[in-house]
Amino acid sequence: TGEHTAQKTDAYLDTKLLAPGYGADQVLEKCRKRAHEAGIPEIAVSPQQGQLLSILAKSVGASKILEIGTLWGYSTVFLARSLPKHGQIDTLEIDPLHAKISNQTFIDADLYPFPKIHIGKAVDTLKGLSPPGEAEGLKDAGYDFVFIDADKGNIPEYFQQALRLSRKGALIFIDNAIRGGRITSEYRSNTHEDANIAGLRKFYDWAEKDNGKTVLLSGTQTVGAKHWDGFVLATKL
Ligand code: SAM
Repeated sequence: TGEHTAQKTDAYLDTKLLAPGYGADQVLEKCRKRAHEAGIPEIAVSPQQGQLLSILAKSVGASKILEIGTLWGYSTVFLARSLPKHGQIDTLEIDPLHAKISNQTFIDADLYPFPKIHIGKAVDTLKGLSPPGEAEGLKDAGYDFVFIDADKGNIPEYFQQALRLSRKGALIFIDNAIRGGRITSEYRSNTHEDANIAGLRKFYDWAEKDNGKTVLLSGTQTVGAKHWDGFVLATKL
């Protein structure tokens, strides 16, 4: 009948579960509108997914977070809000317009710590980063939480860099890793979805070979505001 849909259920959960300052508050709605008016696509995480990111970051006691794929900064807000005042969040974005609009989001949302946006191809930026705290000789140098949410074709490289830059016990979250089940076979659509699926399948092949040596992995399929998709969670062993 359409009376009960995954979208309506997400909307119900949003009214019940979102905490002030995390989900769909007035300030963030204004930022969402500004992004929309600037022509930025509506592909940010859903509020429920955003709050899940906050919970996960808090659960690992994250003080250093790396995000790949900023868009207009919606997920970055959830991640930054989960940090202690002395925390650090680096977010990587290729599109200067997205970066500019994200900066305005961070100002309007009054984020502290204030996220640092690195503009450029994420693969290049990642190569130039070192694990935070390494130069100071910290024992647990490295990011505590990495959120991978950019182009999926580069996922194998993003994941290896995430491993290099994170500490033991860090959580790595790969978003949109299920794609309506299309990951289970070669995909021939003549669109950029081919590259997305190829990137993800290469990552899953790596995971199969790793066989629990360097990371423990789990894929979770989701329905909801974003239809049939899901994510992969990894912890660095
Ligand atoms: N994390 C955001 C959120 O949930 O609010 C959504 C990120 S959106 C799905 C993906 C972003 O990755 C886009 O802003 C896009 O411009 C950026 N992107 C795509 N390819 C990239 C690349 N090679 N390097 C860096 N950023 C890239």
